[in-house]
Amino acid sequence: MKRGILKTALMITVVLMTLCTSVYALTSYRLNGYPHSGKYVYLENLLGDSYYSQRLDNAMFYWTNSAAHVGIWKSYSSSNDQIVMQNDGSTTVEGVAYPYDPGDGSTAYYITINKYSIDKANTSGTQSYIEGALVHEIGHLFGLDDLKFFDSHSQIMSYYNDRNLRCTPQSGDIAGVNSIYP
Ligand SMILES: [Zn+2]
Repeated sequence: MKRGILKTALMITVVLMTLCTSVYALTSYRLNGYPHSGKYVYLENLLGDSYYSQRLDNAMFYWTNSAAHVGIWKSYSSSNDQIVMQNDGSTTVEGVAYPYDPGDGSTAYYITINKYSIDKANTSGTQSYIEGALVHEIGHLFGLDDLKFFDSHSQIMSYYNDRNLRCTPQSGDIAGVNSIYP
């Protein structure tokens, strides 16, 4: 009887391990269901911070110059796509990207970057860490979802990506975006 229980436990362990392995192997991107309506985006920079604005310029350059079939540039006039800064002592999130309909049935994005939260987590004070956060939020704009626990932590959309090591779109991020914008 005891041996039977042990066997069942072993079987369940094996099945779980197999499931985890297949999820791990398959998931290099997830889609959020709200891709930006166009693949070329003009983002209005309302960060109000010159250092972060330079990081944003780099983040947009990383996407535009990647193998992803998309481009994102700074808008010099009022745009449906905007990025703003939050710096109010809250450490809940480092950034949020909200999809919305600007009134014409299309999908645009409003991104909030939490400077306080990022600077607190960026213990080494690297540019890469900040740029990685911005590249991640732009990834949401192009229809990517967070990977959370389902990957190798090596994509820009990974929750546990080390942004000191990686701050540019990775192969899974690019594959995901190109599945939307062929
Ligand atoms: Zn995210």
